[in-house]
Amino acid sequence: MSQDCIFCRIARGEIPSRKVYEDEDVLAFHDINPAAPVHFLIIPKVHVVNLYDADMAHQAVLGKVLGMAGQLAREQGLTDGFRTIINNGRVGRQEVYHLHMHVLGGPDPLRSGLNTP
Ligand code: 5GP
Ligand code: ZN
Repeated sequence: MSQDCIFCRIARGEIPSRKVYEDEDVLAFHDINPAAPVHFLIIPKVHVVNLYDADMAHQAVLGKVLGMAGQLAREQGLTDGFRTIINNGRVGRQEVYHLHMHVLGGPDPLRSGLNTP
């Protein structure tokens, strides 16, 4: 846990969020500035900066982040498809340095912001 990290603070409940899902390992919550009609983030509760910082010790929790995505997307109404994005580092346009996976969906998530390809 990082004291000042905004997503650690959200994971600790110190900053409110619109929760999508929570268990002991992961938290999913709606993005405060949605780039698509449905836009939520899935984070490991443990502070991992980004995929540069990840190693095999994070295999289980990162597997869970991926493994939850389809079920959570479906529960949010995304039954025809969705996009996932993980931004890493400066060139990867990462803004919050706590690893998170964006889940985006709606009529046309390909047109969403987030500097997608
Ligand atoms: P990044 O560019 O790091 O991949 O994306 C960070 C995302 O976190 C952005 O889409 C931004 O809107 C979202 N975000 C930043 N601060 C907060 C916050 O306090 N609460 C929520 N729910 N989302 C946030
Ligand atoms: Zn953190």
